[in-house]
Amino acid sequence: MTNYLNLREGKFPIKLETSIEILSDGLNIGTLKHPLKINLSIEKLSSDLFSCKGVIESFFLNTCQICLKEAEINLTLETNLIIKDEDVLLDFSNKPDESHFQNLKYFQIERLVEEEICLNYPSVVKCNTEDCLDFANPEKEEKLQPFKKIRDLLE
Ligand SMILES: [Zn+2]
Repeated sequence: MTNYLNLREGKFPIKLETSIEILSDGLNIGTLKHPLKINLSIEKLSSDLFSCKGVIESFFLNTCQICLKEAEINLTLETNLIIKDEDVLLDFSNKPDESHFQNLKYFQIERLVEEEICLNYPSVVKCNTEDCLDFANPEKEEKLQPFKKIRDLLE
């Protein structure tokens, strides 16, 4: 189900206080533990510029890359973005970092939310349990002795 917002028309600010249950396939960010909650407000700055402020709250389940157990990832994002028409993307003088580009007539808040999550998702998934920290701590492991083998051979 896709809900489009037409930012070219309509009343502002647009308050979006809702939840998103399913994200696009192929984002590679695990699965949602609960529906993702958004509390966002879109304001019109000019005919081509809009701001989006608020909070995105999400819990994901993923696999810990160290111990391979299930890891819970809580991403609570304070969002403060400028929304621009995707046609403006061709203008390279614009810094892309604080801006989100989309078709203003068929605006999908899900796309903005997914982009924010992907940008902020940890590059290494860790569960941070005690067992896992032991695992990750190389000092506790026996140090490798690369010369021992050679010494054994010489003796
Ligand atoms: Zn772990």
